[in-house]
Amino acid sequence: MNPKPHVLVVAGSDSSGGAGIVRDIETLAAFGVKASVAITAVTVQTHKGVEHIDAVAPDRVAQQMRAALSANPIAAIKIGMLATAETIAAVAQVLADHPGIPVVLDPVLVSTSGRALLSLNATDILRDLFRMCTLVTPNLPELSVLAASPVSTSSASAADQARSLLQSGAKAVLVKGGHADGVDAIDLLIQQGQADQPFASPRLSVTMRGTGCMLASAIAARLAFGDPLAAAIAQAKAFVHGKLRET
Ligand code: PLP
Repeated sequence: MNPKPHVLVVAGSDSSGGAGIVRDIETLAAFGVKASVAITAVTVQTHKGVEHIDAVAPDRVAQQMRAALSANPIAAIKIGMLATAETIAAVAQVLADHPGIPVVLDPVLVSTSGRALLSLNATDILRDLFRMCTLVTPNLPELSVLAASPVSTSSASAADQARSLLQSGAKAVLVKGGHADGVDAIDLLIQQGQADQPFASPRLSVTMRGTGCMLASAIAARLAFGDPLAAAIAQAKAFVHGKLRET
């Protein structure tokens, strides 16, 4: 029997179910992929705001990852909220022992409601994690913080900021255009030595929480099935667009 591939999700819980690990697991299930989890933080949230965050001890996060990796055939890893610099360091140690597994990192910094989901002192160490990732998926505000420059207002400046993340060691950066304007929502894939590749879908006048979690999990799911990166992104983008249309 060919077992279903597993994706290991390293992320925070959101009691409202609007984002975080609930969204990740729903997405993986929709793609027919099994989920294993390493919870990084327990958050108390409604759809209006984040009321409390308890970060899980970094060692415990690493233990969850190692247990999941030994229990199941993990074919891809999706990383979301990491909460603290110490947790990033613990996650990096585990990833170093599993260099062959594709890793999709959604660099979660701040909730839509404005609450920090990563300690302010942890941005530099988050950039250090990029070298261990197959793909990093910032939105425009996250890209601006990570590139230490103002929020991009054009695709050319977003591409330049993304290239600065490649210099930090990221193999590929997918800049999400959901926070931009224009009739299409265009995500831009930037890779070293390759032409920039746009992924467009009609912009819908709806908002939904957790779309960043869904996109990164959907990409990880398709990578777990062995899709090349661009094909995985195209499928994931179509999936999120379909979910937005349903709202
Ligand atoms: N809570 C958790 C645990 C998350 O992982 C994220 C985003 O990844 C959020 C909240 C923020 O979601 P939103 O910006 O949609 O509120």
